[in-house]
Amino acid sequence: MSPSLTVGLPGQGNRGLLSRDQMNCELPQPTAAKGASGVVGFCRMLHRVVHPATPTGHPGHCTYLRKDRPVVAPLFQETDMGGFLSLRSENVLVLALGIIILGVCHYTLTVKGSHLATHGALTESKRWSRIWELFFVEVCSSFSAEYGKYGHVKMHHGYTNVLGLGDSSTWRLPCLNRYVYMFLAPLLIPVLTPLVAVERLRKVELRSAVRTLGLISLGLYAHYWLLLNVSGFGSPGSALLCMFTTRSLLAHPYLHINIFQHIGLPMFSRDKKPQRIHMMSLGVLNLPRLPVLEWAFGHSIVSCHVEHHLFPRLSDNMCLKVKPVVSRFLQEKRLPYNEDSYLARFRLFLSRYEEFMVQTPPITELVGLQ
Ligand SMILES: [Zn+2]
Repeated sequence: MSPSLTVGLPGQGNRGLLSRDQMNCELPQPTAAKGASGVVGFCRMLHRVVHPATPTGHPGHCTYLRKDRPVVAPLFQETDMGGFLSLRSENVLVLALGIIILGVCHYTLTVKGSHLATHGALTESKRWSRIWELFFVEVCSSFSAEYGKYGHVKMHHGYTNVLGLGDSSTWRLPCLNRYVYMFLAPLLIPVLTPLVAVERLRKVELRSAVRTLGLISLGLYAHYWLLLNVSGFGSPGSALLCMFTTRSLLAHPYLHINIFQHIGLPMFSRDKKPQRIHMMSLGVLNLPRLPVLEWAFGHSIVSCHVEHHLFPRLSDNMCLKVKPVVSRFLQEKRLPYNEDSYLARFRLFLSRYEEFMVQTPPITELVGLQ
């Protein structure tokens, strides 16, 4: 049985036991308004701010919230090809630059591309959404599109910080100590990802399994072929080593950011989960703008994660645009808007690793709101 914490939210009286340190955010005060903090009212307010001339409607009709600038793979092709060609050079600096370019491009395709494609946030067209999803998730990221969508969109977004459902427990490896987890485990991500995908294929229908296996093999072989034939690697071993290096270049911040943004914040039980807006404002954290990481992972994963959890089909660019409106709205309603720096979170996780990553997290109960 999980230990339980209690916290009061607007208008409910604050009889809570949850410490500020535990929540890492300002606790809401009893004087704040309720009702207007619902997502429907929020969406209408955003209509007025972002598109004053657009008639207000139900959030389901707020298509402006979803896309503003489609992101397509060909945008990366020239930079990516420059990276492959740089590897032909005998100059160590050019070689290092080529590996950095390829590594950043790899993460742009696999993290930013796959994440937005899984949410259907790249294009309005359902057919193109599906094509981009298969391309980014299966060809580029070596993972199953079905499992990616189920695990991320249905479970993580649908039940953010709900224990046993969207509690980020897939990122916990209690058998590892803090230093092994934070410094060495990220290097396993490029090797483990296709292995986990293949293991999951046992549970999907044969047609999907064959398609996923084919697209994953195509992506891995295309990467290997480009290194041998465009970059001029002389041996399979050196090409494979280069594949591993570029694919693990940003693995550390990728793993760290995934745990920093939810773990250590309030967790909820599945039979008493709070309203969506409370769940997202309490259980999600934004990091500050970090240029290279924002380029490779997207604003919606780094500095606009709260906005992304409130509006998951918003494009990356629109997340950044609505950020000041969202933070102002939550602060006005005296709801938490969690922000912290990468370094502060890193130190916090190193010092409280047992509590955050090994022990079962305590359940937060919101008085009168569940
Ligand atoms: Zn997401």
